[in-house]
Amino acid sequence: MTDKTARLMGETMTRGMTTDETINTALEFVRSHLGMEVAYLSEFIGDDLAFRAVSAPGLEQMISVGDTMPLDAVYCRHILAGRLPELIPDTKDEALCQDIDLTHAIPIRSHASIPIRRRDGSIYGMFCCLSRTARTDLNTRDLDVMRAFAAISAEQVNARLMVETEQSDIRTRIQDMLDTQEFDVVYQPIMDAQQKLPKGFEALCRFQSDPYRAPNLWFDEARLVGMQIALEVCVIERALQALNHLPASVYLSVNASPDTVASGVLADVFADWPTERVVLEVTEHTKATDDDALEKALQKLRFTGVRLAIDDAGAGYSGLQQIVRLLPDIIKLDISLTTRIDQDVVRRSLSAALVSFAREIGADIVAEGIETGDELLTLAGLGVPLAQGYFLGRPDSLDAAAAWFTPGQGENRA
Ligand code: C2E
Ligand code: MG
Ligand code: MG
Repeated sequence: MTDKTARLMGETMTRGMTTDETINTALEFVRSHLGMEVAYLSEFIGDDLAFRAVSAPGLEQMISVGDTMPLDAVYCRHILAGRLPELIPDTKDEALCQDIDLTHAIPIRSHASIPIRRRDGSIYGMFCCLSRTARTDLNTRDLDVMRAFAAISAEQVNARLMVETEQSDIRTRIQDMLDTQEFDVVYQPIMDAQQKLPKGFEALCRFQSDPYRAPNLWFDEARLVGMQIALEVCVIERALQALNHLPASVYLSVNASPDTVASGVLADVFADWPTERVVLEVTEHTKATDDDALEKALQKLRFTGVRLAIDDAGAGYSGLQQIVRLLPDIIKLDISLTTRIDQDVVRRSLSAALVSFAREIGADIVAEGIETGDELLTLAGLGVPLAQGYFLGRPDSLDAAAAWFTPGQGENRA
């Protein structure tokens, strides 16, 4: 391999190119290195060949990405079966080439082709070059260069196939979940520290799977395959049922991603419910795709009485910018700010700053992730009246949530 080839291979692999860019660069390089007119990567689909990437400057009308041809019309099967060599400097020297119509139709005079295999060894397609002039100067060293670039392309193809398989598995898993609805919703009390009674409950999803996977992982995966809105809506619809079983003075907090809110679907989802008892928790673990749509949808929902909470404030995703932009009704202090707040001056001063900021904009504060009495006391001292966490009550069934309000059952638990 020449220095130039090695350098280009290195660049191809390290420049952070996308799959398509890498394959196109490989094709372009091999085509010019071998002095050919056309280079392409094909995929075999049944008895046809489809062009997946093409480098053929000036010959775009002859061959372009997406075109298909019958495999019987081209050299591929003969090369794979050993009836034709991978390198054909002049087709006039190969009797079999003369029997193939395409040789004369194009006409093809020189041809070089390397099979691209999947990880399981099966044939994906071919990495191929051809020209209308004979290239008797081409030798096995040129074919070796081509092999190296075909190998890079095969890596890219296989990486893409793996992603496609993973995505299809995820799609199936989520569609199954939507069909079977094998999930539970648990409710965690949001406590009024003074009255020791829940003011509201946060609905949290528990997907039934073996092994168990945290709900945020399910939602992250659903987003990867464009099914996040469907999954979130399905869970919210179930969660809302709790409103029928809790006292009218108690609110229900449901979680939704910015993109689900921005899609506008929630207005219909909440339509038949007492919206003044609904709090919508939004967090920006992933940035909203469309900020304007998010603001418009939120405006519409808040007009109907739904309150907005910014979840995970202080966690890094839900920064001040988002809070300033959306002016929420509630700010939920993330667990990363409240853990050991009693022992940590930095967390204490950051939380104090958020509390005074919340006051300025007329928002309530809910402290999340309270696991000890000292954390609760410290936050109460900072003026945070509402808190949520294992110390006050774990996420539990709807019956357990309702029991808080049954005399003699709930009130002594915290
Ligand atoms: P989140 O909305 O911030 O929910 C709070 C998480 O903290 C919950 O985790 C809850 O179980 C946990 N937690 C509550 N108290 C404590 C505590 O004292 N200590 C500790 N270490 N953790 C506590 P969970 O249920 O695993 O949910 C994780 C995240 O997944 C949620 O964070 C939320 O972003 C997402 N999620 C959960 N359920 C849903 C849902 O129904 N819809 C949507 N869109 N997202 C959900
Ligand atoms: Mg939440
Ligand atoms: Mg949170």
